[in-house]
Amino acid sequence: MADVIRNATALRRPTQVGTTLTPAGAAPGFSFEFFPPASPAAEERFRDSARRLAALGPDFVSVTYGAGGTTQERTFKAIDWVRRETELEPAAHLTCVGASRDQIDEIARGYWAAGVRRLVALRGDAPQGSSGYVPHPEGYAYAADLVAGLKKVADFDISVSAYPEVHPEARDAAADLDNLKRKLDAGASRAITQFFFDPDDFLRFVDKARAAGITAPIIPGVLPIVNFERTRLMAESCKAALPQWLVELYADLEADNEVRFPVAVSVAAELCRYLMARGVEDFHIYTLNRADMTAALCRLLRNDARCRQVLGDDVKLAAGGRA
Ligand SMILES: Cc1cc2nc3c(=O)[nH]c(=O)nc-3n(C[C@H](O)[C@H](O)[C@H](O)COP(=O)(O)OP(=O)(O)OC[C@H]3O[C@@H](n4cnc5c(N)ncnc54)[C@H](O)[C@@H]3O)c2cc1C
Repeated sequence: MADVIRNATALRRPTQVGTTLTPAGAAPGFSFEFFPPASPAAEERFRDSARRLAALGPDFVSVTYGAGGTTQERTFKAIDWVRRETELEPAAHLTCVGASRDQIDEIARGYWAAGVRRLVALRGDAPQGSSGYVPHPEGYAYAADLVAGLKKVADFDISVSAYPEVHPEARDAAADLDNLKRKLDAGASRAITQFFFDPDDFLRFVDKARAAGITAPIIPGVLPIVNFERTRLMAESCKAALPQWLVELYADLEADNEVRFPVAVSVAAELCRYLMARGVEDFHIYTLNRADMTAALCRLLRNDARCRQVLGDDVKLAAGGRA
């Protein structure tokens, strides 16, 4: 299993900024996801978080594209700021919803002209209240079509989504894997997964992907749970299972910020440790535009890697917990 997963995340980078680990004690690699801020105060928070997280030397930071393409300008503004004002590598999310191919190609050309080389290409969801996703008559119907179109615009580095618990609209798991393969065959370089709370769901998914001939890196998407009720709603809409132990862990914690914070970091760290102990080396963190939890999580994981390097395999079991 470990070899399989190691291959999953095989694009190793040189030693990370801020660490002295050798490849043998490989420090985990990170990418961070933000959403585009909607107010001047939120913009200040976003910028402050991005600056603070830059110290962790992530591979890239991505900025989402609002449902139905509603944040086109704000996403561009946030990405452009990252590129101009920080050392970070920006990756702009782009979706198919509600736009013609010409409009999307124009946005992509704008990113390329601004020096942005990475995109995260997605289908997107139908606007709330509508009866389901319908492709724009002159648009890209699915993410695989979008990837192919974007590759014609310029040689972007493109990430796509993957679903360890199967996308809710997929015919079945095999059809969903075929779709992932089509996206990668169309020119995407890696997949980033939807969040999940049972690490074995991710490991099983990677096994199936490898068996289906998918060789590209598959990066686990990790969501630290700040607000349990919001997370529950998000999990419901994307059909990610919430284990009962998690529901019980967060019972009565909504009003207790002081306890919620360390609990959120610990739960996310345990999930990542379980995966690291099985060879996963890269993590995509859904930051919710907060630096504190993501920084705490990444520091802990880098420290685990350092311990493993110094102490050897025994620590893997301790870090993995449930081995
Ligand atoms: C890492 C990540 C980042 C995200 N960022 C954003 C964001 O910034 N903005 C946003 O709005 N949403 C975002 N999403 C959510 C995403 O848009 C939704 O999950 C959406 O429902 C599916 O998008 P997709 O790119 O996975 O779609 P696709 O890969 O196109 O697949 C969508 C569904 O259609 C099926 N399918 C694909 N091709 C065909 C076909 N030819 N015929 C029939 N069925 C087909 C697939 O199996 C799947 O069920 C993100 C999701 C992830 C995991």
